[in-house]
Amino acid sequence: MLFTLQKCFVSTCGHQCPSVCGEIYPSEKYCQICASAEIKETPVDFILGESYQEINLTENSCIFPKCGHFLTIESMDGQMDLRKHYCLDDLERPTAISASSTPFSIKDIRTCATCRGSLRGLSRYGRLVRRALLDKATKKLILYVNQRYMPLAQELPRVLYELQNRNRLEALAAAVFRGNIQARLDGPSAHQVELMSYRIKKTSKVHWSGILALRCRLKEYQ
Ligand SMILES: [Zn+2]
Ligand SMILES: [Zn+2]
Ligand SMILES: [Zn+2]
Repeated sequence: MLFTLQKCFVSTCGHQCPSVCGEIYPSEKYCQICASAEIKETPVDFILGESYQEINLTENSCIFPKCGHFLTIESMDGQMDLRKHYCLDDLERPTAISASSTPFSIKDIRTCATCRGSLRGLSRYGRLVRRALLDKATKKLILYVNQRYMPLAQELPRVLYELQNRNRLEALAAAVFRGNIQARLDGPSAHQVELMSYRIKKTSKVHWSGILALRCRLKEYQ
């Protein structure tokens, strides 16, 4: 269970675990009782303005990102805009995914407010972070398809049309097969293209140049 506030660990020092079930267990360094003065005085609740030693861990658990800038869950949720993406119950537990289907932007990947470190390791926000990353990858793919695939798809009918232009076709056939040359075309299509372009190049430099260039670009794209 990702979102329960139940605590399933007791710290090795014997004190209460400051985090919640499902998250990485913070080291003893962060034990509310054993911690250094510096850690105890860390402001962890933006809403109440309380420091770590002042909060009641039973009501207000903390979440510990890898960078070490821990906060109460409520403060971290506020930072992650969790309300925008989940329906929360009276105990601030997400009960459902919010109906809004707006794609996440990369701006929605919240990072640590102090050092902008990644919050990717926190399971509570896993879906938000992964969804934003997935949406970013999708956008990149669409952009790639538009930049690379679309020009190829648009050029194909144009070069085919040029190739099928009857006058040019007849002139080409007359030039290539003059003197009743017997041309044998067999093997895989790439080989046939090679044979034909060899024949054509012998008589004309311009014919087929457009479609052969396109063929190269298509191969690169694949
Ligand atoms: Zn558990
Ligand atoms: Zn302790
Ligand atoms: Zn940080």
